[in-house]
Amino acid sequence: MIEIPKDVKFIIDTLEAAGFEAFVVGGCVRDVIRGAKPKDWDIATSAEPLEAKALFSRTIDTGLKHGTITVLLNRERYEVTTYRIDGEYLDSRRPETVTFAQRIEEDLSRRDFTINAIAYSPTRGFADPFNGRGDIEAGVIKCVGNAENRFGEDALRMLRAIRFAAVLDFSVDVAALNAITKLKSNLTNISAERIREEMCKLICGANPSAAKLLETTGLLYYALRNREYGGNLDEVINQLNHVSERQKRNESLITNDANEQARLALFLAWAKDDCPNILHDLRFDNNTIKNVSMYVQFLPTEIQPDRYEIKKLMRILSPKHLKILLELQYITAPFGTASQGLILHEAQSIIEKNECFTLRDLAINGNDLLNAGIPSGKAMGETLEKLLDAVMREPSMNTRERLLCEI
Ligand code: ATP
Ligand code: MG
Repeated sequence: MIEIPKDVKFIIDTLEAAGFEAFVVGGCVRDVIRGAKPKDWDIATSAEPLEAKALFSRTIDTGLKHGTITVLLNRERYEVTTYRIDGEYLDSRRPETVTFAQRIEEDLSRRDFTINAIAYSPTRGFADPFNGRGDIEAGVIKCVGNAENRFGEDALRMLRAIRFAAVLDFSVDVAALNAITKLKSNLTNISAERIREEMCKLICGANPSAAKLLETTGLLYYALRNREYGGNLDEVINQLNHVSERQKRNESLITNDANEQARLALFLAWAKDDCPNILHDLRFDNNTIKNVSMYVQFLPTEIQPDRYEIKKLMRILSPKHLKILLELQYITAPFGTASQGLILHEAQSIIEKNECFTLRDLAINGNDLLNAGIPSGKAMGETLEKLLDAVMREPSMNTRERLLCEI
């Protein structure tokens, strides 16, 4: 028995009352069995998309051709997908055709791993033809059917196998690992966006040491879009584990929104100037490229516990990024770990005392300078910079009167 939210049960009951079958399926079933909270609840049904759509008042045509509609209920979205079998794969990427199927077992047989191929219905119980529950118990990622065939159909599954090992803290079955070693170069056919998503989940996972499997199978070269990994993966894995421990103990300055970027910086620290190119090739957004490259660039820079130097850095990086950089330096310890605490303390005090380190916070602005007879343009820029520098050295100077005397 597994517990299903009221609205999900309502969708299943509605489909069943209309004479169709319906199950919850995939990641949600896996997660409930593992004792984790599912991210979303997916439903598989024998009803065809238009038949399912007719039963609910608010739906979205998510992918009618592939059998998926989204049911909107109490501000949540639920994907309802018709049982389907994938047609032939010609490009290791996506099936040429999709055919709707009659039986849940057929739908489960197209899924990637046994742990993801379990369905459950409150009235019909479990459908688990590949012993996914046994593999959850054993903590192993195993393909549904023959690993080489399944990776041959869709090369992304190779990366997904290792990503699930990292996220769930599972091992990967030997047959799957051998198949990955053999077919790794097929990952070239997969879009950068899909690779990026799996790689991000992987480095944020509970068990980053699964990343070692990327190296031992040789898949990492293709995940980096035909590049050798230039770092020491064992060290990086230790660092990622260290971040997780600090986060668990609530000691980390790496906030949730910065987690992925901070981990990417650890993962790509070796790449230095090539870091933006790698991120760009993996189609990361500009903000991520900028922040991660900035962490990587400043990681080897020794910061002095000196207020003026810290302000100069906060001006470039912003206080938030400086904190993350300090934590990354603490974790990678290029200069030992002694001064990070001191620097953080100084940074905190600069912020609490509202000391100025940006032009915006200067007590005078361009208009004041114009009134004082300084023409706009280069001269004004230089004057503002000079005043800011003086204020960063001596905070008490940041009043209008004193600065006007300095011009
Ligand atoms: P997560 O919690 O990370 O979202 P998930 O299991 O829900 O894990 P999704 O990528 O959301 O993973 O996919 C949903 C389900 O669809 C999977 O559980 C699996 O059954 C199936 N699936 C997804 N991608 C593939 C694929 N490339 N090949 C075969 N089956 C797949
Ligand atoms: Mg999912």
